[in-house]
Amino acid sequence: MSELTPPAPEAARALPAAKISFEFFPPKTEEMDKNLWETIKRLAPLAPNFVSVTYGAGGSTRERTHATIARILSETALRPAAHLTCVGASRGEIDEIVDRYHDVGVRHIVALRGDPATGIGTPFVAHPDGYKTSPELVEGIRKRHPDIEVSVSAYPEKHPEACDFDADIDTLKAKVDAGAARAITQVFFDNDLYFRYLDRVRARGIDIPVVPGIMPMHNFKQARNFVTRAGTSVPDWLAQKFDGLDDDVETRKLVAATVAAGQVQKLAKHGVDTFHFYTMNRADLVFAISHLLGIRPKTAREAA
Ligand code: FAD
Repeated sequence: MSELTPPAPEAARALPAAKISFEFFPPKTEEMDKNLWETIKRLAPLAPNFVSVTYGAGGSTRERTHATIARILSETALRPAAHLTCVGASRGEIDEIVDRYHDVGVRHIVALRGDPATGIGTPFVAHPDGYKTSPELVEGIRKRHPDIEVSVSAYPEKHPEACDFDADIDTLKAKVDAGAARAITQVFFDNDLYFRYLDRVRARGIDIPVVPGIMPMHNFKQARNFVTRAGTSVPDWLAQKFDGLDDDVETRKLVAATVAAGQVQKLAKHGVDTFHFYTMNRADLVFAISHLLGIRPKTAREAA
């Protein structure tokens, strides 16, 4: 083929626009707050399915998560999802949090067991009067407010505490039986892990969407430490791509965007049409990757 030959029609054909959602964490300082809101303003025109706000380990961000969610509801047309864990609170306290969310108009909760209050790697000890497992929490929310949609976690590399994949997927099944409508995966970098996991999940008769969680690595070293503690493996080929870039933020950004864009485009080619982005409260890479997925900003009226 000469250099001037146009690409075959199949290669040139755009993928249908994907559906996306974004995850934020509640800001700790005024500066972080300003940064989050700049990020939200930049990403909102992409009209995500929903945006979620995490709940700090041990419930440490309870009020900040609530305040962020309430502001998203009052100042934007976005549909927020509040993360909530079972850690460090009685059932009564958790139920109150859920009621408060319901009162302000939240209709989507990401329900999790949460990490042990004593740290990842130590045994999980439930609050004596608390929800003891994630399926219990899902059931509690759904019984209290059937109009709240519940999403849950899923682990393509299995959760580090699960003795094997069967036990891990049993828990996912229990969450689905309790009323979960969607699972969002832990971050992964090897798409084969996701597809193998999906095969196991479907073989178990679980048919809810299992949305891949994608994390563009703005700061590779920091992100690697963070994700490996949560049980995600970081392949050597990925580490090599960031080799020598510790002090080169600009190139690191380009590499991170290229890697994550490659990952989502490969998933899309295999039929995946929904993605959840761990934004780390930063817009630039996620905006670019969404663009490559065929997503364009909408006017406020189009997005409504
Ligand atoms: P579950 O789904 O209940 O369990 C995960 C796996 O661990 C299952 O395989 C289960 O079988 C196994 N397991 C659970 N308990 C035991 C046990 N006692 N013994 C043996 N195996 C066990 N954390 C936060 O603090 N705040 C957040 O906002 C937050 N958001 C998250 C969002 C997503 C999409 C994901 C993937 C994770 C998030 N996490 C968050 C992390 C999560 O809280 C931890 O991974 C936690 O350790 C497990 O909670 P879970 O609901 O995922 O666990």
